[in-house]
Amino acid sequence: MRIILLGAPGAGKGTHCKRIVEKCGLEHLSSGDILRKERAEGTELGKEAQSYMDSGQLVPDELIVKMMAKAIRNAPETGWVLDGFPRTVNQAQELDKALSSDGQSVDLILNLKIDDSVVMDRMTGRRSCPKCGAVYHIKNLKPRVEGECDKDGTELVQRPDDEPEVVKKRLDTYHEQTEPVVGFYKNGKKVYEFDASKSADEVSAKIFETLDALAKA
Ligand code: ADP
Ligand code: AMP
Repeated sequence: MRIILLGAPGAGKGTHCKRIVEKCGLEHLSSGDILRKERAEGTELGKEAQSYMDSGQLVPDELIVKMMAKAIRNAPETGWVLDGFPRTVNQAQELDKALSSDGQSVDLILNLKIDDSVVMDRMTGRRSCPKCGAVYHIKNLKPRVEGECDKDGTELVQRPDDEPEVVKKRLDTYHEQTEPVVGFYKNGKKVYEFDASKSADEVSAKIFETLDALAKA
């Protein structure tokens, strides 16, 4: 199964990808997580990506496409869920080309729909585990012990690009460059849409209803 999860920053892509991969045994391929790992390791790619990420802009397509094509090639046969990629129509076209040259294609596209007004609170309240990548929210999805990851006890951190000024820029970037990707996929494939303003458990339930119905079809 090859799934793409689309949605604005803060819509809940990471949260739901983690739930999907746990249940379905797929690989979670998050372009943002891969970039943050490259930065933490001080690689050339990490250094090149830094200024774009910190200012809420997109990292250039050619760097991202190469990085994600490699991640997809290394993913297990069972399949993957893409989170944060593709983020431009050009990236979507390049993904199609890379997959078809390997005789593959995307099976399913899920789009998390949300208003900008909800996103600001979600992103400024987001906390994540620097060790395992688990995502929490200070009000909506609290860890069991405040400030600590449920899975490994690591101290949770706030992403520097979740500051309100950078969030505003990321939303502008989303509307200008990423929203057209939904239209690109709607042209040729069925895109399943979800109201991402509902609670995380309600959104998950709807996603799993869709996945179960498709598995039975
Ligand atoms: P994305 O990967 O799309 O940027 P995240 O999954 O990191 O989004 O979610 C952004 C923030 O919102 C996190 O703090 C997460 O815990 C919280 N969150 C995710 N889904 C919901 C939801 N349905 N209701 C409330 N908060 C949510
Ligand atoms: P995310 O963790 O998905 O919110 O991504 C964090 C940041 O990484 C974004 O604001 C971009 O700067 C960069 N990034 C992640 N994915 C992509 C992508 N597909 N194309 C370009 N830049 C990306």
